[in-house]
Amino acid sequence: MTNEDKAHLKKLLEQEIAAADQTIERLKEASQAVAPDNALGRLTRMETMGDQQMSKAKLSKMQQRRLELKNALGKLPNPSFGLCNACKNPLPVERLLAVPEACVCVPCLNKLQKKIQKR
Ligand SMILES: [Zn+2]
Repeated sequence: MTNEDKAHLKKLLEQEIAAADQTIERLKEASQAVAPDNALGRLTRMETMGDQQMSKAKLSKMQQRRLELKNALGKLPNPSFGLCNACKNPLPVERLLAVPEACVCVPCLNKLQKKIQKR
């Protein structure tokens, strides 16, 4: 992975983290407890609680992703960052963005999954 690639990836990771931060803030608000004095009808209240559950699930997913992006950003200066653990070929930037914790390339991942399935 060239220094240019890393600089590009760093920018993209930072953008992704900023976007995740915004989503997390929004979801935190959405998953706030419904105030008991909220003048909502019963059905509406149930719906709100359902939405809350969904927001909470999304929130924890998003927090996990943010952590992974942060980890990737921290490992970026590492010379082995972005190399497949199995074949040592560089991972595509798109793959690193989609799955920041990726440590093997897609062909190697497929091979590994086939091995697991055969067991
Ligand atoms: Zn590989």
